[in-house]
Amino acid sequence: MTPSKLVILGTGGTIAGLSSSATDNIGYTAAQVGVAQLVEAIPALLAGGAVVTEQVAQLDSKDMDFAVWAALASRINDFLAQTDVCGIVITHGTDTLEETAFFLQAVCQPAKPVVLTCAMRPASALTPDGPQNVLDAAAVARHPGAQGVVVVCAGTIHGAIDVQKAHTYRLNAFTPGDAGPVGYVEEGCVRQLRDWPAGSGSGDHLAAVASGTATSWPQVEIVMSHAGARGKVVDALVSSGVQGIVVAATGNGTVHHALEQALLRAQAAGVQVRRSTRCAEGHVLPRPDDAIPDSKGLSPVKARIALMLELMGWPGTR
Ligand code: ASP
Repeated sequence: MTPSKLVILGTGGTIAGLSSSATDNIGYTAAQVGVAQLVEAIPALLAGGAVVTEQVAQLDSKDMDFAVWAALASRINDFLAQTDVCGIVITHGTDTLEETAFFLQAVCQPAKPVVLTCAMRPASALTPDGPQNVLDAAAVARHPGAQGVVVVCAGTIHGAIDVQKAHTYRLNAFTPGDAGPVGYVEEGCVRQLRDWPAGSGSGDHLAAVASGTATSWPQVEIVMSHAGARGKVVDALVSSGVQGIVVAATGNGTVHHALEQALLRAQAAGVQVRRSTRCAEGHVLPRPDDAIPDSKGLSPVKARIALMLELMGWPGTR
């Protein structure tokens, strides 16, 4: 029998936000409405088959933490192991959505679709964008052959590795950069343009991740290279026991000489250092004589997660 049960996990965000005025799209409080209530407000969602909801967290995603990630990864693996479940939708804030998506793809590599969705306007808005986004996300989660972690926002399907929040206000706030979208959702139908993210379904290191606590996760920090950058911040991090540093470098991975000297000192002291770029698009192109390894195309925030997993014994996230 084809699995048809859809699981919707709630974590909060603007999609669950409330404002005192229907015309106020920015002065709201995120994470107020429960996921069950959000789903009840979208009757069309129930037409496609059974829907199960679970509130995994209720927070503004600017405050996302490792404990919620571990709980999400664990619930995803539990639900996807059920043969009647076709896929999972996760309602999430937009601010750190790309980090959660990357983490879940790295840790779970789900063989069924796990679709993060969101909203730029609160649930109380005159015309909220959340309900359509959830409906579109459900279409992807129910789509035969879909797999891996993707993000659905404003009718576009983005891969977890490439997606970035690129706009502070517009409804279509996300970009997949050079990679392009995985596809679009149009009137409930998926128009696929490229491959779904990998879906081995192995979840090999999930147990280690799920047992991690906020304090036992490796300390990996991000520093930015800019005009007038200094090495003091890196020296201070090394003194505080940092285990990894990602530098959001300029352009194709170039670093201010003062900051670079400090990063090389940190590296010599045993700290793992990676070079990403503060450019919104493009990858740092490696050279054989690079003193500091590049981030393999990952943005600074994703390179940080990849390095944390690497320090925890994860063999590689790309
Ligand atoms: N601060 C909100 C959050 O990330 C923003 C949003 O959801 O759009 O939870």
